[in-house]
Amino acid sequence: MSETTQPSTPETDSEPGRSFGQRILLENVTKRYGGQADAAVDDVTIEIPAGEIVMLVGPSGCGKTTTMKMINRLIEPTSGKIFIGDEDVTHRNADDLRRHIGYVIQGAGLFPHYTVAENIAIVPRLLGWKKDRIAARVDELLELVNLEPAQYRDRYPRELSGGQQQRIGVARALAADPPVLLMDEPFGAVDPITRQRLQDELLRLQEELRKTIVFVTHDFDEAVKLGDRIAILDVGSRIVQYDTPEAILAAPASDFVEGFVGHGAALKQLTLTRVRDVELHEAAVAQVGGDATAAIQDARAKGREWVIVLDDQQRPQRWVSVKELERAGSLTGISRDRDLEVVSTASTLNDALDEMLTSSHGVVVVTGRRNSYQGVVRVETIMQAMQQISSAAAEARPVEP
Ligand code: ADP
Ligand code: MG
Repeated sequence: MSETTQPSTPETDSEPGRSFGQRILLENVTKRYGGQADAAVDDVTIEIPAGEIVMLVGPSGCGKTTTMKMINRLIEPTSGKIFIGDEDVTHRNADDLRRHIGYVIQGAGLFPHYTVAENIAIVPRLLGWKKDRIAARVDELLELVNLEPAQYRDRYPRELSGGQQQRIGVARALAADPPVLLMDEPFGAVDPITRQRLQDELLRLQEELRKTIVFVTHDFDEAVKLGDRIAILDVGSRIVQYDTPEAILAAPASDFVEGFVGHGAALKQLTLTRVRDVELHEAAVAQVGGDATAAIQDARAKGREWVIVLDDQQRPQRWVSVKELERAGSLTGISRDRDLEVVSTASTLNDALDEMLTSSHGVVVVTGRRNSYQGVVRVETIMQAMQQISSAAAEARPVEP
């Protein structure tokens, strides 16, 4: 039976999208650290379905990291079994196992004296891949995490921003195309805007890769946004509730869970709706180097004061007012506005609202694959979605006295 369930081998596991996720099963897993009365992880049983993102959420010290590190055997369980696919990995060679499980930690954990390419290449080198194959894989992964290979492959980690380092951390974890990714508060140390982008990118990647991802966080909003399922953990990694975000928001299993969900559950449901799920509108659009007169006419016909200018690959560059266009009379030499607010189709309405509240246009630009322009979201669209969500929630919930 296990012959057909593709335990990955170094020769076959490298092609992109080839190695989809495998189920993970923890069976009565316990970890006792020496000299402690209570188990750090106390008899945990949980099944993580293949190809899903499962979020482990719980207070500090409840055993999240210990639970995760037992899956790749950075920590040995005191008792219990752990399966990946059909294989009981508690008996597998631990070093070998770790080469087939991607691991991403906070701060990325890159080696400072290795270049980006060398960092990403670590596991493929351990697996004995040929040089050319490694180089090709490095470039492919850099593209995958939205970093221009020629520009980044020879840099050192200190020459990158925190968000870029974290992307390299993800690329490194994916290098040998493992079926399973373990992510331990990976986006905990970056600023909120970078965190949002990294979350969006992870979702976009996952649509293609379909890995099984175990993701630890103490941020319930992050769990709602990223998780196919959420396990809410109490001390000893005890599972208090394990369900979809929708189900947990609609019916928290206990006061403890309620405490995590917090107030404004209806508002939080905005985190459950993606930009791609709502109607996009057309902005007035122009091309860098295009015809300014036509752009002005187009904006006027649509009743718009602002035009979004795209480059030759349809990537939004900046908003330009009709007045500016009239004055300049040309669309040449328009450069990218580094502060241009955009969201992706995978972003949540919550993110879109955030961006909108700091922009002066009342809309936010939406990008899709390769950052290409898709349209705009209007504030009215978000308000409408919020109303629908809260009236649906009011119907679903019994009225409290
Ligand atoms: P979390 O990731 O949820 O914050 P951890 O898994 O790191 O929690 O820790 C769970 C419990 O185990 C905590 O009480 C912690 O103090 C304890 N613990 C973690 N690592 C060790 C260790 N190496 N030795 C002893 N106790 C540990
Ligand atoms: Mg931890």
